[in-house]
Amino acid sequence: MEILAHEIAFDFDGVVADTFRLFVQMAKRDYDVDIDYESIKEYDFLRIIKMDQDHVAQLFSTLTYYPHELDLEPNAGAADVLTRIAETAPPISVVTARPISGPVERWFEKNIPRIRPDSIRISATSESTAKLEILKQHGTRFFVEDRLDTCHLIAAQGITPIVFDQPWNREAHPYTVVKCWDEIDSLITWNGR
Ligand SMILES: [Mg+2]
Repeated sequence: MEILAHEIAFDFDGVVADTFRLFVQMAKRDYDVDIDYESIKEYDFLRIIKMDQDHVAQLFSTLTYYPHELDLEPNAGAADVLTRIAETAPPISVVTARPISGPVERWFEKNIPRIRPDSIRISATSESTAKLEILKQHGTRFFVEDRLDTCHLIAAQGITPIVFDQPWNREAHPYTVVKCWDEIDSLITWNGR
């Protein structure tokens, strides 16, 4: 697999940002709900976690609109790889099913300030299925994603998924898996363009 830096795009939550780990921490801190991260074996984790719906909605709202005000960390190594893409093959393409892109833009400004805002293109699609059309429009060939349903959808349309390993995507599938950003780094042919 040869990937040039301008051919790859990234999901945000669970790939660039360690969102679900923060969700688990906030659920424990704010609502005394103890969730073992490694036991989240389904993407739709509310089906397996007992939690008040209003509390879930409150946490989701906070994570959606104020990620830049929380301790939402980039996954280890993400800042270095994304900065390198921003410098060699801008813009970085981030495609998220979040409803709005502004908070993610502010999150980047706060958490990876080395990257100039005009070197990042954030597409917020609201629906995960709508990612496909955006990826096609951008000519993206490879997409790093933690949700297997989205991987299946884009693979059927000729875009190669790269699964970012998470407890909820470990069932059998035919795609390349990366466990960390160093592995993403090593998949990219940096001098290819
Ligand atoms: Mg995700």
